[in-house]
Amino acid sequence: MTDRIREFLRNRREDGPCLVVDLDVVRDNYLAFAHALPDTRVFYAVKANPAPEVLKLLASLGSCFDTASVAEIEMALAAGATPDRISFGNTIKKERDVARAFELGIRLYAVDCEAEVEKVARVAPGSRVFCRILCDGAGAEWPLSRKFGCDPSLAVGVLEHAHRLGLEAYGVSFHVGSQQRNPRAWDQALASAAGIFRDCAERGIGLSMVNLGGGFPAKYLNDIPAVEAYGSSIFDSLRAHFGNAIPETIIEPGRGMVGNAGVIEAEVVLVSRKSADDVVRWVYLDIGKFGGLAETMEEAIRYPIRTERDGDTLEDCILAGPTCDSADVLYEKTPYPLPVSLAIGDKVLIEGAGAYTTTYAAVAFNGFPPLKAYHI
Ligand SMILES: *Cc1c(COP(=O)(O)O)cnc(C)c1O
Repeated sequence: MTDRIREFLRNRREDGPCLVVDLDVVRDNYLAFAHALPDTRVFYAVKANPAPEVLKLLASLGSCFDTASVAEIEMALAAGATPDRISFGNTIKKERDVARAFELGIRLYAVDCEAEVEKVARVAPGSRVFCRILCDGAGAEWPLSRKFGCDPSLAVGVLEHAHRLGLEAYGVSFHVGSQQRNPRAWDQALASAAGIFRDCAERGIGLSMVNLGGGFPAKYLNDIPAVEAYGSSIFDSLRAHFGNAIPETIIEPGRGMVGNAGVIEAEVVLVSRKSADDVVRWVYLDIGKFGGLAETMEEAIRYPIRTERDGDTLEDCILAGPTCDSADVLYEKTPYPLPVSLAIGDKVLIEGAGAYTTTYAAVAFNGFPPLKAYHI
């Protein structure tokens, strides 16, 4: 919570939940990444928060952009990024979207299998491709599963296929899982990447780049290591596995760039008990899973919640959203301690809400409008 956000909310008169993002915090985050990883280019993961104000600020600071669709490419271009500063990092692309991206000037693509290489070779000839490898996501609070990437043992074949089809086999990428709380989580993947570099070199293919992905955490309830700890741990692993032939590197922070910059103001709609001897209260807010808090799925992300009564005694409650869908419960398995005095109409502040909220809000489920957002 910053003074600028506090001031903005004091003057706000409209009804309904809203996200307020302080762009000064985004700027500080960008500079912290640039400082902690000085030889690494930053490709902001647009999906975390694609607000034009965020993209414009980052473009002006010199950031590059990782995009997952033609629409995101167009947003990054509109914000002032030139095509050479944009990657199409989704491994699952329609061929006609690759063709459109190529027309827009994009020359850097992610692949994780031969079929995807063939699409890129057909409609984006001569482009650079990097092969994404699987990563187990251990230590991440929002792991990314096996949906993206191939086993490292297949990567050489994928890159060799690209080379044969006239593409530039450019490097290797991975993602260690989002909200990764272990700064050493990059080590294993970097060891695999170095092996792929060696195997490709033996076949006459010189790779250039390692894409270290995202995963840098935002502060929620638990403390997190500082970005410097990630920078030095990654640098140590690069030295250990690549010796003095350290490749070009890029990072793709999303959550770590914008998560701590945003606060959602919401309102208590109802406080009730389900039976006379119920020990746990139900607290219903005017925001829930469909209003932008989708990352509470399986109670994965636990947001800090502040109220004006935080000095009072706390008591566990089940926290739920306002829609008529029984899945719209935020915290139940692990109830959330909130002041006993919390009352209908009270405002609550949900911190660390700058990433993965606005774009996860439904358009009009149950007639609730999507999450309003202000980037100040
Ligand atoms: C979502 C995504 C990111 C951002 O991940 P964070 O954990 O939010 O930093 C980076 N790279 C790719 C390819 C992604 O899909």
